[in-house]
Amino acid sequence: QDPDPGGHYQFRVIVLGDAAVGKSSLLRCFAEGPGGGGIGVATPCPTVGVEFYSRTIPLPPAGKAKLQLWDTAGQERFRSITRSFYRSAAGVLLVFDLTNRASFEHVPEWYREAAGDRPPTFVLVGHKCDLAAERAVSAEEAGHLAATLGMAFVETSARSNRNVELWGNPHPHLHVAVP
Ligand code: GDP
Repeated sequence: QDPDPGGHYQFRVIVLGDAAVGKSSLLRCFAEGPGGGGIGVATPCPTVGVEFYSRTIPLPPAGKAKLQLWDTAGQERFRSITRSFYRSAAGVLLVFDLTNRASFEHVPEWYREAAGDRPPTFVLVGHKCDLAAERAVSAEEAGHLAATLGMAFVETSARSNRNVELWGNPHPHLHVAVP
């Protein structure tokens, strides 16, 4: 993708996963960081409004990238989003709740739905890692599924801010398993 005349790139990232896994919380947490542009609403197809969050991040050595992060609602609304919407994305965050086994088991379905014939870059996100005592999916299991689907895996929490900042400051907690 080419930058605009100011040397800025813009990337669209779509966030998918079952209802209540914490997608909006995760995005809100990220968009509140430095360069966060807050929330807007756009209409990717005539009947569906999708909220998006934006944030500009530094792109070393000298550039900047504006990330537009699109939130999708639950399963029902998601079905009516067109394939062209997915094709317009640079990346997909596929989020499940580490304390909700069913949300993990639905990951392959979400992947099939969004991958199409020219899959964007996916990252598998195991969210709510602050709830260690209620955990229903192990890191090994999630890492294995991510590797099978050819994507990286990261554990996050909007509550403890874990792995929300992937760019910028060196992050002591960052753990991303790249296949
Ligand atoms: P969405 O439907 O996927 O957008 O999920 P929401 O962002 O609305 O979050 C669903 C519920 O999970 C809410 O009650 C949130 O407070 C809670 N939640 C979101 N992120 C976290 C997290 O990192 N840790 C914990 N413990 N709860 C979270």
